[in-house]
Amino acid sequence: MGKDIPNARMPVYNPVNGVVVGWVPTTDPSDVGDLVERARRAQSQWQLSGFRSRAKALRELRKWIVDNRARLIAAVCAEGGKTYEDALLEILYVCKAIGFWAGHAEGYLREERQWSRELLLAGRRVVSRYEPRGVVGVIAPWNYPLVLGLGDALPALMAGNAVILKPSEVTPLASTMIVEEGMAAAGVPTGVCQVANGSGDVGQALVDNVDMIQFTGSTETGRAVAVRAAQRLIPASLEMGGNDAMIVLADADLERAANVAVYAGMCNAGQTCMSVERIYVEESVYAAFLELVEARVKDLRVGGPGAAGTVDIGSLTGPGQVDIVERHVQEAVQDGARVLVGGHRGKDGNFFQPTLLADVDHTMALMREETFGPVLPIVKVRNADEAITLANDSDFGLNSSVFTRDVNQGEFIARRLEAGSSVVNDACANFLDARAPFGGWKQSGLGGRNGVEGIRKYCRQQTILVTRFAMKREAYMFPYRRRTTYLMERLLALFFGRGG
Ligand code: NDP
Repeated sequence: MGKDIPNARMPVYNPVNGVVVGWVPTTDPSDVGDLVERARRAQSQWQLSGFRSRAKALRELRKWIVDNRARLIAAVCAEGGKTYEDALLEILYVCKAIGFWAGHAEGYLREERQWSRELLLAGRRVVSRYEPRGVVGVIAPWNYPLVLGLGDALPALMAGNAVILKPSEVTPLASTMIVEEGMAAAGVPTGVCQVANGSGDVGQALVDNVDMIQFTGSTETGRAVAVRAAQRLIPASLEMGGNDAMIVLADADLERAANVAVYAGMCNAGQTCMSVERIYVEESVYAAFLELVEARVKDLRVGGPGAAGTVDIGSLTGPGQVDIVERHVQEAVQDGARVLVGGHRGKDGNFFQPTLLADVDHTMALMREETFGPVLPIVKVRNADEAITLANDSDFGLNSSVFTRDVNQGEFIARRLEAGSSVVNDACANFLDARAPFGGWKQSGLGGRNGVEGIRKYCRQQTILVTRFAMKREAYMFPYRRRTTYLMERLLALFFGRGG
């Protein structure tokens, strides 16, 4: 038995006014090893319980989440400064994801049995199967504490792993409620899913003890996690920043493109890894598109979380985030960008006014780094080729989008964009389909979530070769004989010696 884990707690603050909105138990980094041991003890029974039993428990968890949605939405709003709708989206996503993984895990991880087609392996059966890795550590960021925390724990749990979730120290409240209250109410055995609250050093200790790491956050921390995981030779699946480009062609439905641009660029106050962060518009429709976007950005209602339907843009969540956004906007303005709407922080709290900028260029930090705020820079381009070149001129490659009425042309352009996902006449919507694999290129990530690989990554693959019918001795075995070797060489020349 490990030693008792001390009962320390830490406060959680509302980013709108700095008021303490709750307390969560914390884990000392030196106690993470004990948590992992507890998880290991619970994991084997959880694995043995089978897919149906695990699916039943997770569906019970979904019922608990729905029954407790008012408390959970209040917690997500309070710790993240989110609007009611942005918090509801997190609950909806998690409920849908539970249904998806509960329904698909068994099929995605079904073992495959086939007769070998190799001449030399005639009579052998090849079995490929998936075995859970053991204890998975999920390190989550503050922008979507449920989607990017619990959301990643779900396929890991369905695969038969135990999970330790490390929420961001900024937003641990709702995740802790779900893990500590919801999992128990749903009948998930103690130790199978635990929470480890604390700062980055708890995340580091997790990497040092678990069998696999799922990380979402900044590229800088993701790289540090990858290096540490490499030292232990454990797999790390990393989803990091994005700087996603949208392209609007002359034949696009401009009204739809403008609505999508404003929503996908500014929902969750622009703090989404797959937010639209840069827009390239063909010159013949540039002025008309700018006008449509401007009208919509001007209409956005900014404020602290309120009742449903009262606020569009909440506060920024991450500490110092408003300073990053302000720096990007101010530097761009100094270098010649034109502010059409907003351009400054809110009067009080952690707010940044929804901001629309024109006359931006590619040397600005706003275009090169992840701004992670409610800011849309729009750039005029001569044609689709120029838009593609500029869109691809980035260290990141998470999501991208293109708007055109010619969907064939849209798909052709999507294929030329250097990003893990590309969306035609929409943006971000791909994340809503758990069948659609999602992961970053370049510095946006390694590995991915969703789709069949979204659960297989939480498993070790094992191949079993079963020899059912065989001779006493294979022709290629000792002792080597000249006649057999000659025959094998003839066969080699016969089968592979023809080229073309
Ligand atoms: P981080 O990458 O620092 O944090 C992400 C998670 O990693 C948090 O749970 C954090 O814990 C944890 N962590 C921190 N240090 C370590 C470590 N050495 N080993 C293991 N885990 C660690 O993101 P920030 O919160 O600092 O945000 C910085 C920037 O990253 C943002 O401005 C934004 O641009 C980007 N970002 C991108 C996100 C995305 O969805 N792709 C999400 C969040 C941020 P703790 O919070 O307790 O320190």
